[in-house]
Amino acid sequence: MLHIVIIGAGECGARAAFALREKGFDGQITLVGAEEHLPYERPPLSKEALLHGLEPKLVSDAARYADAGIAVLTGLSVESIDPAGKTVQLSNGDSLPYDRLLLTMGARPRPFPGLSGTIHRIRTLRTHDDTVAIRAGLQPGKHLAIIGGGFIGLELAATARKLGAQVTLLEGLPRILSRGVPDEIAGVVAARHQAEGVEILCGVKIQSLEESRDEVKVHFEDGRTMAADLIVVGIGAIPNVELARDAGLTIDNGIAVDEHLQTSVPDIFAAGDCCSFPLAHYDGRRLRLEAWRNAQDQGALAAANLLGAGEAMSALPWFWSDQYDLTLQIAGLADGATQTIRRDTADGAFILFHLDAGGRLIAASGIGTGNAIARDIRLAEMMIAAGVRPDPVALAAAQTKLKSLLAA
Ligand SMILES: Cc1cc2nc3c(=O)[nH]c(=O)nc-3n(C[C@H](O)[C@H](O)[C@H](O)COP(=O)(O)OP(=O)(O)OC[C@H]3O[C@@H](n4cnc5c(N)ncnc54)[C@H](O)[C@@H]3O)c2cc1C
Repeated sequence: MLHIVIIGAGECGARAAFALREKGFDGQITLVGAEEHLPYERPPLSKEALLHGLEPKLVSDAARYADAGIAVLTGLSVESIDPAGKTVQLSNGDSLPYDRLLLTMGARPRPFPGLSGTIHRIRTLRTHDDTVAIRAGLQPGKHLAIIGGGFIGLELAATARKLGAQVTLLEGLPRILSRGVPDEIAGVVAARHQAEGVEILCGVKIQSLEESRDEVKVHFEDGRTMAADLIVVGIGAIPNVELARDAGLTIDNGIAVDEHLQTSVPDIFAAGDCCSFPLAHYDGRRLRLEAWRNAQDQGALAAANLLGAGEAMSALPWFWSDQYDLTLQIAGLADGATQTIRRDTADGAFILFHLDAGGRLIAASGIGTGNAIARDIRLAEMMIAAGVRPDPVALAAAQTKLKSLLAA
């Protein structure tokens, strides 16, 4: 019986395992995960799970894995892959033979430079256990310093304010969200955080962090210091590629895969946060995404291709973030844009449409309360996928139905 082993029991690995069954695979499936929990959703970790102290939101419960005949080995790491012998070595000493292998090992938080040893008051946020530890330090009045003005830091800031903590956010660059988020949207986010009482300090240069029994200190390069009860470092993520690299697979800002999610070694595929892939819609440009829907899409695509479908990756990048009652969404890649058209919708919500030099819509980003922008971003995504060159004047006018521009 054919055996497919999936390394990494997160969003992507779990999705792939079920997709294999949905596509009719009746061989053996083993999903190996280093964490103690069954696969769970990470987006709530900085939002409602942190706010309410919830248990992990499982992708599926144990009964569904059992019904589908998916063996989930939790609390076990794969320590090495032998592509020639087609086996993986587990941390409990066992080795597991495979016919085909899928790597969905995700990413881990980038540590603050130079930090090592046992650290209690300086944390990162990636796992359920991180959320539990951070929540324990967020009582009302406690001072949280967040290093990094990216999505995770900002979502954490919003939740920490709801929990009554005093929050200072430290960003080294001149503004928050400088990676892939337009200025106008970052400005709205920053203003809202400040209105909620978050102190945002941009352009700061941190020299070192120092932990003592009762507090933690940030030492700035200009000689100033700041004390806090807890520091959370949110300065990006590093793809988990070491296993693949040691097994001789090509690495290029992640485990390099082709448009079918196939690695440089036969019968080994990779998907989700750990891989970089070429995206045909953007001239085959290679990118690595850290986004929930991408993990799902690639999990399903990898399953199809493990079974020989030969389907190419076509989904567009899409990401959302919730902070307070604001939702921000980004579809496509805006960095090749030469023109941006703003469309104001109801209640202060707006969408920015990004067009390339030829007038083609290549990305859309928006912000508003609740799901104010959701439908328009969905339509924008369809327009991007269809390669539409919309009339900028019509695009800017809220009364123009985007559907009509899609049809045109
Ligand atoms: C706090 C937080 C909030 C987020 N919010 C959003 C959001 O609002 N919107 C959005 O679009 N995206 C969001 N994301 C991103 C999204 O959750 C990720 O893109 C998604 O989880 C990636 O799934 P994955 O399966 O590729 O990797 P992961 O979820 O990281 O899963 C990989 C798993 O593999 C395991 N593993 C690694 N190495 C080994 C090994 N050698 N052996 C066994 N197991 C191993 C890891 O322990 C991990 O459990 C958020 C992420 C975080 C951390």
